[in-house]
Amino acid sequence: MALLHDFLHLFYPELCLACSSALFQNENLVCTRCLARLPYTAYETMQPNKTEKLFWGRVPLHKASSLFFFTKGSRIQVLMHALKYQGRKDVGVFLGERMFYRLQEVQWLDDIDVLIPVPLHPDKRKKRGYNQAELIAQGLCNSSGIPHDYQTLQRVRFTETQTKKSRMERFENMQDVFEVKDFEAIRGKRVLLIDDIITTGATLEACAIVLLDSGAASVAVATLACTFT
Ligand SMILES: [Zn+2]
Repeated sequence: MALLHDFLHLFYPELCLACSSALFQNENLVCTRCLARLPYTAYETMQPNKTEKLFWGRVPLHKASSLFFFTKGSRIQVLMHALKYQGRKDVGVFLGERMFYRLQEVQWLDDIDVLIPVPLHPDKRKKRGYNQAELIAQGLCNSSGIPHDYQTLQRVRFTETQTKKSRMERFENMQDVFEVKDFEAIRGKRVLLIDDIITTGATLEACAIVLLDSGAASVAVATLACTFT
């Protein structure tokens, strides 16, 4: 099989998603060189970090972290574009696994009971065919063994883009957007909320408030990337 793989590889080499160079057989999706050069924040080693500080005075989070800086033209931008707009679901799972390796090194996941991705509105999910945050949670679940829950927290109202709104307008815009469908599933749980990217934090803030109001013991936040540096 390995021989056949190498043979096919001569004619149809799999390419690194970030730099398009041919992958070696032991590499998957992203070449080793690119993996080493992803713009890691190392926020999981800093307390407080900028992702945590974003929520100060808004909602009492247990802790928060973002794995990468989302900088223009960076390898992570290319990968996240593939995940969000080119149907590359495997990239989400892959990046969720990367998240696991970084977080478990500092025992960051030891006090988490359940992984909850930020839900998309059902219409939007249908249009894209998947929720990218669920795929990241899936990768994290696969490697950590912590269960995920895609059902309990639901998005019940559609919201337009937030970027041009003031902080107060954003907050009001997010009121009643999310709902917990089953209080028993949340009560006493230490929740890790997961999303692909964080900019203003308004969406995650709204999710965290609903979860805490529904009886979660604590809420932490982990995003793949952050737009601030
Ligand atoms: Zn590469």
